[in-house]
Amino acid sequence: DPIVRLQKVKKNYILGTSEVHALNGVSITIERGDFVTIMGASGSGKSTLLNMVGCLDKPTSGKVKINGTDVTKVDDDRLTTIRRDNIGFIFQQFNLIPTLTALENVEIPMIFSRIPPTKRKKRAMWALKQAQLDAEYASHRPNELSGGQQQRVAIARALANRPPILLADEPTGNLDSKTGKSIMELLVRLNDAGTTLIVVTHDQKLTEYSNRTIVLMDGEVSDDIY
Ligand code: ADP
Ligand code: ADP
Repeated sequence: DPIVRLQKVKKNYILGTSEVHALNGVSITIERGDFVTIMGASGSGKSTLLNMVGCLDKPTSGKVKINGTDVTKVDDDRLTTIRRDNIGFIFQQFNLIPTLTALENVEIPMIFSRIPPTKRKKRAMWALKQAQLDAEYASHRPNELSGGQQQRVAIARALANRPPILLADEPTGNLDSKTGKSIMELLVRLNDAGTTLIVVTHDQKLTEYSNRTIVLMDGEVSDDIY
């Protein structure tokens, strides 16, 4: 089975008395080890697509298969487990908890997956190392870190449960171009190590780092370039 497979996915939102067709029959197959950039104008359905792949929401119709499991057929508890075991999320705004240290932020997903404290801490240190944040920053709070360092903490958090898939929504959108480049180089390294990467962006430059670019237009795939 491919790691991600979308089959004729439609997603409608009800907005007052009208219906928005955010995804209008999207079929995509992503193989293990792919690095895919999703591009498209604002409103083309990129975030909705990411929410489908990330098992944050179910489609109106069609199938979403993660590692062979059709997630549209499972209950919410199972969906949570599938999400936790398969997917790490990276955001434009980092979404770190300001009152917690870098290390504690990375531990959060492992608390939800009930990993005991000693192992959690050990693995959080491992994840911070993978994200190339120097160990001296593990005890710092987000406001004591640069934007690039905060994104490294967020990437470490995404790696904590060692998911096969990383989803990133504009991961460099809040960073200057030099820092953005270093974050993209980190994502390339993680991809080289075997993680499947799906990055949503407006930034054409980011397509240089991926091996495939999918372009959405009005809720449909308008281009799929290898
Ligand atoms: P993009 O990420 O490419 O900007 P989105 O997936 O956010 O696109 O949005 C696709 C379409 O769906 C847009 O027309 C947007 O207004 C609409 N939409 C997205 N989320 C919702 C929602 N929760 N409720 C209603 N409409 C939504
Ligand atoms: P344990 O080995 O006690 O079961 P973990 O699985 O959390 O605990 O990992 C322990 C150590 O193994 C970490 O400190 C790290 O050095 C290494 N490690 C964890 N995950 C990976 C991985 N995906 N790839 C390589 N090494 C890893």
